[in-house]
Amino acid sequence: MSDFRADLHCHTTASDGTMTPREILQEAKKCGLSGLSITDHDTVDAYVEAIPYAEEIGVRLVPGVEFSTDFMGNTVHILGYSFNPDNPVIVSLCDYHKKRRVDRFLKMLERLQAEGFDLKETAFDLNDGTIGRPHLAKGLMDGGYVRSVAEAFNKYLGDGKCCYVSAETISTEKTLQAIHEANAFAVIAHPHLIKNQETLLGLLKLPFDGIEGYYARFAPSQEKRWVQIGEYRGWLITGGSDFHGTVKPNIPLGCSWVRSELFDTLQKRYEENLHV
Ligand code: AMP
Ligand code: FE
Ligand code: FE
Ligand code: ZN
Repeated sequence: MSDFRADLHCHTTASDGTMTPREILQEAKKCGLSGLSITDHDTVDAYVEAIPYAEEIGVRLVPGVEFSTDFMGNTVHILGYSFNPDNPVIVSLCDYHKKRRVDRFLKMLERLQAEGFDLKETAFDLNDGTIGRPHLAKGLMDGGYVRSVAEAFNKYLGDGKCCYVSAETISTEKTLQAIHEANAFAVIAHPHLIKNQETLLGLLKLPFDGIEGYYARFAPSQEKRWVQIGEYRGWLITGGSDFHGTVKPNIPLGCSWVRSELFDTLQKRYEENLHV
């Protein structure tokens, strides 16, 4: 058996990871990975830097993304693979998410200001790919209004608190449709996080192409159920670490991976999408 390994789930500074696209590719090389897909939350910005650099250092890279979607009122993460990062449908979906985050952030900021906190919009980087409640909590701490992030959430920002605004996102069905319009693969991310059985059964009826069967540092016994579901449906069974860098220090890059057969399938589709 070849020693080919590819990690299909990781995050860079383009979303909430701590390594830049170049650093994550260097890390991939260092830990002996032959292939990688960077799957930032709701953005493909990493690929501008990542595509030429991957070529330069000899790591095979297939475009990916992790969309936050709404399914029956639950947030469900959907992975997309093998699109052309310039595909207009993918680009506009990412633009929508960027705008949605900033709009919600500004609404929550307005509420905090109405409560009398002296927080200024200019103190925040609205281009931060993951701008959200943690940034506001830090603002409250820096202003001396709360002593900890937890206190900021407990008093003002937690679900249902006075300055909370719900995160409305696009539906799973519409996200699936967009991924398919881009001739890409749609995969259910970390299915174990879907605790509600009704939600899970509803989700499994949608026309996905794959399921994330291998995840982080899960033991085979924890992965078995998802692998079996994938096999039963004839879906792609993907896998990856969900590496975020130092914010999740126990999860190293490459701790979950797939073999060349699956990676080749993703790469072949990506190459087709580059030539249409
Ligand atoms: P947002 O995406 O703006 O809704 O913020 C969600 C993030 O806020 C989560 O990923 C957590 O990191 C953080 N968070 C959510 N609830 C709490 C809490 N009660 N205490 C501290 N951090 C929290
Ligand atoms: Fe994340
Ligand atoms: Fe996720
Ligand atoms: Zn992730």
